[in-house]
Amino acid sequence: MDFIILDLEWDSAYCKKKSGFINQIIQIGAVKLDQNLNFVDNFSRTVRSAVSKKVTKRFTELTGITTEDMLAGIPLNDAVREYNDWVGDDFVTLTWSNSDLYAIMNNVKFLLSDGLQFKTGNYADLQSFVQNELRLKGHEINNQISLSAAAEMLGISTDMFELHTALDDSTITAAVLKKTYNESRFAPYIKDTTDPEFYKKLTFKKQYITKLTDPRIEPKHLSFICDKCSNEAKRSKKWKYKNHWFMTEFICLKCGNKFLARVMLKVTYNGVKASKRIIYPTEKVQQDVTV
Ligand SMILES: [Zn+2]
Repeated sequence: MDFIILDLEWDSAYCKKKSGFINQIIQIGAVKLDQNLNFVDNFSRTVRSAVSKKVTKRFTELTGITTEDMLAGIPLNDAVREYNDWVGDDFVTLTWSNSDLYAIMNNVKFLLSDGLQFKTGNYADLQSFVQNELRLKGHEINNQISLSAAAEMLGISTDMFELHTALDDSTITAAVLKKTYNESRFAPYIKDTTDPEFYKKLTFKKQYITKLTDPRIEPKHLSFICDKCSNEAKRSKKWKYKNHWFMTEFICLKCGNKFLARVMLKVTYNGVKASKRIIYPTEKVQQDVTV
């Protein structure tokens, strides 16, 4: 199995077919490593836009890619066809964060023709893998970190790279992979992008239930067990809703214990998740359960 470290540069442009703005792919850069992480080959193509005559100023500032470069490029269909041939058949695609996948999804839908797909096959988000590895090494990481920040933490010099041409970024990403790779810890990050569920999950927007009349609410989401005697408790007031939380008071049917109950109902791809809390006024949170 080869590792394909992919990086895309995309620029915002108006797309008639979408009736809105799209992050059109302007450059595809990739590095191929073999199963032992040895360098095999590079890939770099600049794409001539089909929907705009120039690139934005911000895009040029960020990537160094000018309108002239873009106009000298090849059609997206050709670039993607060449890329698909280049990746081969036994590979895992890696990108730094999954934002390139959104760009791929929209470019396939609105800009590629002839039913052409962008081959991503098995895929892993290297950013989330590396962040976990850095945490294991004792780094404190709360937010998503940039590629250059990760490189710095791993002692990889990025001075010789311009940072952000597609090929430069994927070369640094490859160096980051080499420094952090661990076969057994990496394996769970691999997802099959050819599974129709994959992009559905990726684009699923998490949301909160805000009304008690919502048909997705089940009785178990709003029930509470007494944390003193483990028997069923009964609601004694009306539910109130504030900042994602439903709140009310409960009383235990057996021991008479009274407590404040809070539930947050989040709709995820896999259904409603209820986070429940039992609170005693003047005390701290007593119980924190997710159902
Ligand atoms: Zn009780």
